[in-house]
Amino acid sequence: NFRKDIRNVAIIAHVDHGKTTLVDELLKQSDTLDSHTQLAERAMDSNALEKERGITILAKNTAVSYKGTRINIMDTPGHADFGGEVERIMKMVDGVVLVVDAYEGTMPQTRFVLKKALEQDLIPIVVVNKIDKPSARPEEVVDEVLELFIELGADDDQLEFPVVYASAINGTSSLSDNPADQQPTMEPIFESILEHIPAPVDNSEEPLQFQVSLLDYNDYVGRIGIGRVFRGTIKVGDQVTLSKLDGTTKNFRVTKLFGFFGLQRQEIQEAKAGDLIAVSGMEDIFVGETVTPTDAVEPLPVLHIDEPTLQMTFLVNNSPFAGREGKWITARKVEERLMAELQTDVSLRVEETDSPDRWTVSGRGELHLSILIETMRREGYELQVSRPEVIEREIDGVKCEPFERVQIDTPEEYQGSIIQALSERKGEMLDMTSTGNGQMRLIFLVPARGLIGFTTDFMSMTRGYGIMNHTFDQYMPMIQGNIGGRHHGALVSIDTGKATTYSIMSIEERGTVFVNPGTEVYEGMIVGENSRDNDLTVNITKAKQMTNVRSATKDQTSVIKTPKILTLEESLEFMADDEYLEVTPESIRLRKQIL
Ligand code: GDP
Repeated sequence: NFRKDIRNVAIIAHVDHGKTTLVDELLKQSDTLDSHTQLAERAMDSNALEKERGITILAKNTAVSYKGTRINIMDTPGHADFGGEVERIMKMVDGVVLVVDAYEGTMPQTRFVLKKALEQDLIPIVVVNKIDKPSARPEEVVDEVLELFIELGADDDQLEFPVVYASAINGTSSLSDNPADQQPTMEPIFESILEHIPAPVDNSEEPLQFQVSLLDYNDYVGRIGIGRVFRGTIKVGDQVTLSKLDGTTKNFRVTKLFGFFGLQRQEIQEAKAGDLIAVSGMEDIFVGETVTPTDAVEPLPVLHIDEPTLQMTFLVNNSPFAGREGKWITARKVEERLMAELQTDVSLRVEETDSPDRWTVSGRGELHLSILIETMRREGYELQVSRPEVIEREIDGVKCEPFERVQIDTPEEYQGSIIQALSERKGEMLDMTSTGNGQMRLIFLVPARGLIGFTTDFMSMTRGYGIMNHTFDQYMPMIQGNIGGRHHGALVSIDTGKATTYSIMSIEERGTVFVNPGTEVYEGMIVGENSRDNDLTVNITKAKQMTNVRSATKDQTSVIKTPKILTLEESLEFMADDEYLEVTPESIRLRKQIL
């Protein structure tokens, strides 16, 4: 017995391969009411940070209806920092739609998420997107996808994946790889989903099992658990038992259930096996916990939650302008804000320190933590952060540290310096292949420690032509000694005269000043640089629309190249080498020690 009226799929892709555009187009072309209004609303209130960085941070679900079948589409974060969440999403669905750029082909994030999907025995559908690009090479890309499937140990069923060629942006698709055959419809994708992705088993007459895979929070209803009804039926008013992770149980009555319609949630009265739903009313419900009938308590196996691998100290802005009292008020607010984050982010840890205005915040990686920092800054919290440190872990009595798998695409001429730089950082080269046209693909295994701050070096080393991607690989025994060495990077506090804002700046040995977007650089500003070997003060003597900035160091004057505008990720790398800085109205001085 199957629920033929439902399909549950996750959509996976490397950043920018067109996942969001595709889901929006599926929604537009489905018979879901109000889809246009909903899309317009979403475009308006979607997370600004996600838009800017072009990545999915929060998992979202979209439910579309096609020929009377409801298709639940779970969006998955593509970055390894959110691996645990990806895994939990994979457990909620029966198949995946893998979106691959028709030119770029398979990328590290494709690999990372696909691996998780194949491990769950999910049935895949491949959408080769951006077929409209003149540079599209669909045949080769499909070969690459097939090779990747084989490499990741796909079974025979999985290897028989259907391929749909699409241009999400034009709303066209086709089963043929000839761009001239594109049709103005997403029907081939809908049909492939209905045909290939298995419908959920209908065991709605058996005792209920609903497992929470994701958390959400809303001021009106509080904590919300999102998950799949794996067995049975759940109804508003039911008396149920929640099996907690620590083995205890709690009884409660189901007060509110929500289903997904288009991009919205709507209250529903009941849900059955195979449905993806949201439940509210259970105060401290947590990821991995199971809801069952009180007279048939049978919890499902707990779900995997990623342990943090990186930690930072957050501290309240201790600018001399903030009075003592002001500082403690701020400290309380920052703490409340961090605690609120814990409501939905299960991979985050916040620990108090000896000092009431600083906390140790641990997360999955630089991206995970940088998103939190940036979100808080945008909300107006004034924070300083320390350099990130990897979290060591003892496994079978051996002290281990996290390692990342790094994939680099670069013009040949830079491979020598990349290999040298990464070996200094204790990386091990796993593979090196020529991808044609003088391009090389290098694969390394590098201790996460060695990658802190590497992006910037990499960008200058390859004159911006290199592409680097990395994903968490595994914990392995610690490598002894220091890794690499950096000579630039500073967190700079700039007094704009109106308010004290924080921004990040780096000064390379050659004298280039890098600023991140929104940083005000002005004449007379003094920037302190923290380097391991020497202290350097750069006096900016000319700053005009952030071009042709001149700098004068203590001993020499050098013309600075056009400052590069950094992405947040790159700017976070600068924070990596930072110690705390103090701001005074006329100068910015480096402070070597924290207080
Ligand atoms: P995501 O990061 O996977 O969600 O990717 P998005 O849907 O945000 O798309 C990334 C970029 O690719 C955007 O600029 C889109 O406009 C563009 N894009 C998406 N689909 C297509 C397509 O079919 N053809 C072309 N040429 N561009 C596309």
